[in-house]
Amino acid sequence: MFFILTVALLTAVYLVVGALERRPALRFRVLTAPRPYLATDIAWYGVAAVATALSVFVFRPVLSAASIAPLADRVGDLPLVAKLFLGLVVFDFVSFLVHMGLHRSDVLWNLHKVHHSTLELDGFATTRAHMLENLLRFVPGQLVLFLIGMPAPTVALTVGLAAIYGVSNHSNLDIRAPWIEAILVTPRLHRRHHVPATTQNNYAAIFTIWDRIFGTLVRTDTTNDERYGVPGEIDTYPQHFTQAVREPFHQIRQPPQPTRTAHVGEDPDRVSETTASP
Ligand SMILES: [Zn+2]
Ligand SMILES: [Zn+2]
Repeated sequence: MFFILTVALLTAVYLVVGALERRPALRFRVLTAPRPYLATDIAWYGVAAVATALSVFVFRPVLSAASIAPLADRVGDLPLVAKLFLGLVVFDFVSFLVHMGLHRSDVLWNLHKVHHSTLELDGFATTRAHMLENLLRFVPGQLVLFLIGMPAPTVALTVGLAAIYGVSNHSNLDIRAPWIEAILVTPRLHRRHHVPATTQNNYAAIFTIWDRIFGTLVRTDTTNDERYGVPGEIDTYPQHFTQAVREPFHQIRQPPQPTRTAHVGEDPDRVSETTASP
């Protein structure tokens, strides 16, 4: 029941954000209409829903048996609000490390390219992620929450809130509030992560502290001429669902391509040409 409610709530958030981010007074960029590759992103949304169901009904019952007893007792005694805050901080930190790993490992980067392949950034692009990446993201964060003693309903609430926050991060909303960014990630910060020149920055999803600690936070505005996409493959990465599902396996069999980012001011496709040669 909670799962169905979460999916229904997420769908409602998608639709509301989708409407708001296209309003002239609220948008960052003018989005293309009709929305390109909507069928692709609806398919990825379906994949994310199936992965979430797997996570809830298959992995969560197994993971919930894990706990570090002395720590779990202390966390168990905390009031709900404190548990939820601690849960979000811990879950976000584990997600940050997983996300950084997705960029730093050649094999994992091939999976994560699917998420970076979106050419326009809006809420519907949030769940564009390969099914294997979904599993990599869902399991470690929940495992750590159970290890420190979070009860299953708090874990479910934490993961649900993080998912909703992720939709806002990918939105085209033009939110300018530096004081929020002292603590929280905003769409302005996450869109820099989708610009090839700064793809290896702004890994965090909820709290900016992790990027501050690891020196990966960039706060410059994205300009109108900066495109989103996979560094070096903006115009070539498959945009259709079935091709994109297979693409990571195709690329994993290819020789390593070092272009995970381009330096600021460089054309990532030129960087690709110059660095991909043996
Ligand atoms: Zn990324
Ligand atoms: Zn993203």
